[in-house]
Amino acid sequence: MTTTAFITHRDCWLHDMGTFHPECSDRLAAINDRLIAAGLDLYLSFYDAPEATPEQIRRVHPESYLNELTSSVPEHGIRHLDPDTAMSPGTMKAALRSAGAGVLATDLVLKGEIENAFCAVRPPGHHAERSKAMGFCFLNNIAIAARHAVDAHGLERVAIVDFDVHHGNGTEDAFRDDPRVLMVSIFQHPFYPYSGADCTAPNMVNVPIPAGTRGDAFRQIVTDTWMPALRAHKPQMIFISAGFDAHYEDDMGSIGLVESDYVWVTQQVKAVAEECGHKNVVSILEGGYSLSSLARSVVAHIKALADL
Ligand SMILES: [Zn+2]
Repeated sequence: MTTTAFITHRDCWLHDMGTFHPECSDRLAAINDRLIAAGLDLYLSFYDAPEATPEQIRRVHPESYLNELTSSVPEHGIRHLDPDTAMSPGTMKAALRSAGAGVLATDLVLKGEIENAFCAVRPPGHHAERSKAMGFCFLNNIAIAARHAVDAHGLERVAIVDFDVHHGNGTEDAFRDDPRVLMVSIFQHPFYPYSGADCTAPNMVNVPIPAGTRGDAFRQIVTDTWMPALRAHKPQMIFISAGFDAHYEDDMGSIGLVESDYVWVTQQVKAVAEECGHKNVVSILEGGYSLSSLARSVVAHIKALADL
């Protein structure tokens, strides 16, 4: 029986921030190729992501922001919102599918149709604040999914695990001081977006790490800080902001994680879910820009999700 869903949509390839931009559709192509080369496609349930609805998005982003985004889409070419974040004619189609993937994953898991899910989507989301696109992100996919679990399914406690090399400032913006949502994260510091190290909200367990940190230190931090916080929160569902730019081979950051570290942390997250009496895990792609290490890490992560 397949227990892990793979959710994506061809529209996620339409978003284009210009030639040589690292956040490009080749990332999804590399993941697809590696998935097939690994023979993993035989073991997964594939779903097309729906578009997130305005109601689902408004739980995180105000309507004025959504309107502003929609009206910023260029008819041709590329329009920059900041030096590294730009829109093309297909950007909103991709962004709506990316947010919708997390919503569908949440529905599938909570209805018991699957045990867990990986959403292979772009643009990523964890830098998108309530009213601000930045850092390659427009809609905060993980925040929209987590709010869907709380608001549409009535969950009282969820957790977000973020192992992207960058701080998920947008997710923190969405949930700071919301006791229903625990966020645990590591991120290279000091580093873009230069936030997170000074947050004192009790539901934000942020662990800044210096450039050069390797897997053994990462595992110790997870064991010492994330795990006690997760166990104390007793989440009814766990979301993973799965960025793979902390990989040793990824030049976007300077952290030294490898595939076995991603397998290990995925198993830790699954173990917490099982301690809490369920298997509800939804993982959504964030960063990861070295195509080879991104694809290998995603395959390793999905294998761990699927117990393969
Ligand atoms: Zn990142």
